[in-house]
Amino acid sequence: MKVYISVDMEGGTGVASAKHMEDAGYTRMCKLLTQEVNAAIAGAFEAGATEVLVNDAHGSMTNILIEDLDERAELISGSNKWLCQMEGIDETFDAVFFIGYHAHEGNEDAVLNHTIMGTAVTEIRRNGIVVGETAINAGLAGAYGVPVVLVAGDDILCAEAKRFLGDNIETVITKRAIDRYAARLLPPKRVQTLLKEAAKRALAKKDSIKPHVVEPPVEFQITTKLTSMAHMCCVFPVVERRGPKVIAVKGKDYVDSYKQLIGCLMIAKVAATGWIG
Ligand SMILES: [Zn+2]
Repeated sequence: MKVYISVDMEGGTGVASAKHMEDAGYTRMCKLLTQEVNAAIAGAFEAGATEVLVNDAHGSMTNILIEDLDERAELISGSNKWLCQMEGIDETFDAVFFIGYHAHEGNEDAVLNHTIMGTAVTEIRRNGIVVGETAINAGLAGAYGVPVVLVAGDDILCAEAKRFLGDNIETVITKRAIDRYAARLLPPKRVQTLLKEAAKRALAKKDSIKPHVVEPPVEFQITTKLTSMAHMCCVFPVVERRGPKVIAVKGKDYVDSYKQLIGCLMIAKVAATGWIG
């Protein structure tokens, strides 16, 4: 049994404010996050996993400490990956976990709520419905026929995950959101115990959890933070301009649409300040 784990950071316990991911706080979070991942890996192997692939999926994607990672797993580290937070996923996997995940921008007062690239994106709609990273990435796993069976993050993220993926998935609430920059946190050891147990339960019932399949055509409509971002994305003819800050892409299938979405976000990031090559 092969398990794939995508790991963001904002949803880990220990993160209530952006301050917790800066300077010494960031170094500490790398350690805490690696411990959360290890707890999920331990649960996976106890449940019968034979292979676990971890994909570092926050910021520069160089957060997880390989020297501290459970030696039975392997890690994809670094960025510039076509499938971004889901690099390495394919049809050979049996189940997916999302650890350290966060709610989409504008979902109540969720901790550090944003959608993929907070500096560039106000909102992403998939076939008309507002989505966050959980639904977007679950759709990518679904395109390969793999179900997301465990999601961990704050209480609002966990509700968001169940809304898209069904009540049957396992969730671990690592903290309760008070504001975008405040939360009531559970201590790491408690979260790790919860994660290990949830991982075991999730894999025991994986066959009863349906992959999150979005049939083509798949359209992503992106509302950018600045007009320059929407403008410059239209350098490629596949991108449609729908408003000063609104663009849309529609590929031949889910994976193709997703790649176009990620391409737009990379352009948008550069367009924020103008070309500085
Ligand atoms: Zn992140």
